[in-house]
Amino acid sequence: MKKILDVDNLSISFDTYGAEVQAVRGVTFDLYEKETLAIVGESGSGKSVTAQAVMRLTPMPPGKFVSGSITFQGEDLTKKSDKQMEAIRGKDISMVFQDPMTSLNPTMTVGKQISEGLIKHQNMSKKQAFQRGIELLKLVGIPNPERRINQYPHQYSGGMRQRAMIAIALACNPKVLIADEPTTALDVTIQAQILDLMRDLQDKTGTAIILITHDLGVVANSAHRVAVMYGGKIVETGKVDEIFYNPKHPYTWGLLGSMPKLDQNAGEKLQAIPGSPPDLAEPPKGCPFAARCPFAMNICDKKMPQYTELSESHHAACWLLDERAPKVEQPEYAKV
Ligand code: SF4
Ligand code: MG
Repeated sequence: MKKILDVDNLSISFDTYGAEVQAVRGVTFDLYEKETLAIVGESGSGKSVTAQAVMRLTPMPPGKFVSGSITFQGEDLTKKSDKQMEAIRGKDISMVFQDPMTSLNPTMTVGKQISEGLIKHQNMSKKQAFQRGIELLKLVGIPNPERRINQYPHQYSGGMRQRAMIAIALACNPKVLIADEPTTALDVTIQAQILDLMRDLQDKTGTAIILITHDLGVVANSAHRVAVMYGGKIVETGKVDEIFYNPKHPYTWGLLGSMPKLDQNAGEKLQAIPGSPPDLAEPPKGCPFAARCPFAMNICDKKMPQYTELSESHHAACWLLDERAPKVEQPEYAKV
């Protein structure tokens, strides 16, 4: 498979109340055609900031590009002008957000919103764009698309709005689709339908997807690879099976432990990870998870661990993987 996106050593900060919050600290990952990469982490881990940076949507100021490169089809997006980015955004790279109500325009019909991109990027006439809009609504499973296309977002249900957002995002056959918590606001049944839909559409179109989520539960059936983020860094990355069945980072263990299990008894408590994420205005010198990690050693808060290669696709940054460290087995609670 062809590499389509290459993010290297990306760092993004925000100036807030005189402090510099280092939201993303040296993040490196790549994305291949036809694959879904899930970026998983708690709120404040830097996952949304990373996604926005790829779209060059970081508000600047207060945001600040500190370092790194974002190579898309061989070109560094960090070097593009705003105008050049406008031609890429919505056409080659598009985004689906958590809450379609805030990203859909309430004063425009859904049809008009789908047509916009097609007229702008694909040189379609209004009539062609409208026809294509009906096809797209059908593709994302909206019933009566001929009638629905003339309606406003508030006339759609939550699930239908999310489908419409996906239709708009896919209108120009983007190479990369970034979905930031696309199902978080939806109930569980609709959530599953939307994730199925995204997978189906990927099979048909080959679009590569970056799926941003705090919920490891949605990852298992939706992603090929996973990057686990904590404190502005990727702490573990691997194929879905490697992350679920052979996780190596204590934070990943914590996330797996806080996931509801199929055989969970009603009333049985989930293992939430105690403590709170680090203050990224003063990021820890060492491992970002040290203050919450049940396995922390002396060195952990002093020095950032390097990535250990566990397989060609599986990497984790933890001192436990150093050969001098005591052997610690994956705890029972983290087993899925
Ligand atoms: Fe825990 Fe240390 Fe590993 Fe960080 S480096 S996850 S503190 S054991
Ligand atoms: Mg977010």
